[in-house]
Amino acid sequence: MSAPVTEQASERRRWFPDTMPMPAANSETIGWWEEAARHRLVFQRCISCAQFRHPPGPVCPQCRSSEARWEEVAGDGVVFTYTVVRQAFVSALADRLPYVVAAIDLDGAAGVRLVSNLVDVDPAEVQIGSRVKLVWEDMGPALAVPRFRPARESDRARATGTAR
Ligand code: ZN
Repeated sequence: MSAPVTEQASERRRWFPDTMPMPAANSETIGWWEEAARHRLVFQRCISCAQFRHPPGPVCPQCRSSEARWEEVAGDGVVFTYTVVRQAFVSALADRLPYVVAAIDLDGAAGVRLVSNLVDVDPAEVQIGSRVKLVWEDMGPALAVPRFRPARESDRARATGTAR
């Protein structure tokens, strides 16, 4: 990672409470969560056919190979679809309503779609197809969760000259 430390620090924020249910890792997803804890958004990629897949699994759904590696993406993406949650299905989130759950298509990882939250956005202004940018939410010493905020002009400026 070459992002300036100051920039990351300025975005170190919390959007959801510690009291919400935390994600549970299993033997197939633990590697993904370990990379996330280091603020690296990675996806499993088949070594045999180069297909990305998510969530992580033991076998490529396309070619059945079990050989895979993690590949990091920058965290730029597009809203594929979303929903605005207005009811507290999780009581710990009652005071965070409304919040946005979205499926994000990530640049540089064709075929994967990450379900996450959109933050720092008016739910009424969310649109399918809009550009978003990864932000990490540190939920604990060894747990970071990827969220996404609307892309800004400055994101585009930073991406200039960066090969995808
Ligand atoms: Zn494959």
